[in-house]
Amino acid sequence: MTPPSRQALVPFVSVDHMMRLVHHVGIERMMVELVDQIEADFRRWPDFDKTPRVASHSDIGVIELMPTSDGQQYGFKYVNGHPSNTRRGLQTVTAFGVLADVATGYPVMISEMTILTALRTAATSAMAAKWLAPRDARVMAMIGNGAQAEFQALAMKAVCGIEEVRLFDIDPAATRKCAANLAGRGLTVLSCTTAEEAILGAQIVTTCTADKQYATILTDNMVGGGVHINAVGGDCPGKTELAPAILHRAGIFVEYPPQTRIEGEIQQLDPDHPVTELWQVIAGQVAGRTDAAQVTLFDSVGFAIEDFSALRHIHQRLQGTPFFRDLDMIADPDDPRDLFGMLCRSQTADVA
Ligand code: NAD
Repeated sequence: MTPPSRQALVPFVSVDHMMRLVHHVGIERMMVELVDQIEADFRRWPDFDKTPRVASHSDIGVIELMPTSDGQQYGFKYVNGHPSNTRRGLQTVTAFGVLADVATGYPVMISEMTILTALRTAATSAMAAKWLAPRDARVMAMIGNGAQAEFQALAMKAVCGIEEVRLFDIDPAATRKCAANLAGRGLTVLSCTTAEEAILGAQIVTTCTADKQYATILTDNMVGGGVHINAVGGDCPGKTELAPAILHRAGIFVEYPPQTRIEGEIQQLDPDHPVTELWQVIAGQVAGRTDAAQVTLFDSVGFAIEDFSALRHIHQRLQGTPFFRDLDMIADPDDPRDLFGMLCRSQTADVA
């Protein structure tokens, strides 16, 4: 059989290849590069097609498609969120994605995105904190010590100069795992037994828990002035982490309001409650933190442009490396209209 032509082959980045690429670049450097890439794309926000992600909900989870395009390239991610999965030995969140060329419609890369989602979610949290948190923030609380947690802590170290991370999870085994993974990485790590203890002295509080309910990970009295909160775990209808009173006194920053109003902490507020789009802060159009005592909240849900930025970055970073393999993905007959002839010739070739 004739081997597939060059344009029929699409680079595929497996989980193993992604891990090797991350080690090759270095995880903290990768975080910094991802923040640069996401920021650059947020600055040109109006260039993108935008739509709330397409979600298919069940009682125990969600499967979502997240597409966007800048007119040159197109990307989408398939991602799930199933908080009960960990009890079955499965990930809460898994993902894969595609980057494609708008001019031809051909895919240019297929990639695992479970690890890449953890990287881009952490990079996005750190980017938000870079623009919104107090400048002298050195201590963060990390509430929810599951799959995303170490990524979140290391991004805050690399991008915002965080020196101490205070961990809390309702499952002490998750905290032990997180503390062990973060040991020797240049952070002071403290394991705490309550959320109140974890947020003591923290200028940045990241909540990243998984539970399909209106949870109250932080109550109003726990949040003092001048704190920046990244609320990462509330990302579905009926799945939130913060007491509404916190939202009423915080400056709220979001990715794409039509999606966040459905999925974020602000689903608990009136639909016209004022929020600021984070891209406008990064583009210099509106102020971020307005005073030292303000409570700022990044109501993170995860938006398609962050995945697009991450896919583009991985595509650039792959060049000249062995961290992918080519998949025979695109039918490519010599005569583009003779698809059937190509099928027939492949049968003849097999018989011969
Ligand atoms: P995970 O299941 O691996 O970890 C979640 C952790 O939260 C577990 O260790 C669990 O014990 C802990 N937890 C649950 N309830 C808690 C509570 N009341 N107090 C303290 N800890 C509690 O999940 P993960 O992959 O780390 O994801 C965490 C959350 O982040 C999920 O809800 C996921 O949907 C969300 N997420 C958001 C984005 C985004 O862009 N905003 C991206 C990825 C994941």
